[in-house]
Amino acid sequence: MVVTSAVRSFLFFVFYNAVLTTAFHWDYKHEEEWPDQCKNGKQQSPINLSRQTATEAIFPSFIFEYYDEIYRAEIKNNGHTAQIQLKVGVKPKVSGGGLLSTYVLDNIHFHWNSEHTIDEERFPLELHLVHYDSTKKSLAEALKVKGGVTVLAVLFYLSPDSDSEFDSLFDTLEQLNKVKINEVKPIERLDLGDFLPRDRAGFYRYEGSLTTPNCTEGVIWTVFTNGLPISTRQVKIFSNLKTESGGNMITNYRTIQELNDRKVQVKISPIEFSSASRNVAFPIVLPLYIGFSILGFGNKL
Ligand SMILES: [Zn+2]
Repeated sequence: MVVTSAVRSFLFFVFYNAVLTTAFHWDYKHEEEWPDQCKNGKQQSPINLSRQTATEAIFPSFIFEYYDEIYRAEIKNNGHTAQIQLKVGVKPKVSGGGLLSTYVLDNIHFHWNSEHTIDEERFPLELHLVHYDSTKKSLAEALKVKGGVTVLAVLFYLSPDSDSEFDSLFDTLEQLNKVKINEVKPIERLDLGDFLPRDRAGFYRYEGSLTTPNCTEGVIWTVFTNGLPISTRQVKIFSNLKTESGGNMITNYRTIQELNDRKVQVKISPIEFSSASRNVAFPIVLPLYIGFSILGFGNKL
């Protein structure tokens, strides 16, 4: 009897500790098993965006502080994405653009293919710049509050040439396959301004969620209407990263979620507006537009 009781206690101990120590593992092949708000939420991300259905809005310009600077950073493969964290004392900040607070940058990471679609078109890569309210201590703390976290998303379009601005990033990305998951590699020079489109005036805005478990809602999303170029060779470097189980991370995007009763707003960039109304401003705007196209402004999403 005593032995039986001891065995029972032992089994309970083993089971209890197994529950405590087993971290929740998730992957993109089994989205239906994602927990909590991923399953039950009504304001989930990503969504399909369309100018036809979005409401045009007039937002003030974004104010980016400490964004056009070069940083030392660290990158790691966390088993779900390549994630960059800056090594800085003063963190870059964003405000304006219709945001109700000032938000500090927590991390930058990538999804391939894109998570958001535009008129159901999916892009090869999407960059997320995850920010939290500067009045909160951390991202985790800010996630507890509606509007505590804001993500800026940049969509990439395929370009025949590799953009040399990202050379050091891709060199480091290739090195991640030589180290363990979650082991960091340094990036000596990261020009943060390169991670945003040059024209930051046009964007979609809606309220959604994190796109990975636990899919916490209350996240304010900005998806820029201007993208950045990337080559097929560069996208392939991402898909060579390994998952926790050792396979290639072929893709890491969540499927499109229901809009439900949410409203999506869009701010049209004035540059785009001018080029569209060329009947009025054609002689001035066309050379300007060509100039902007050369600079990479011309790829409207
Ligand atoms: Zn993301």
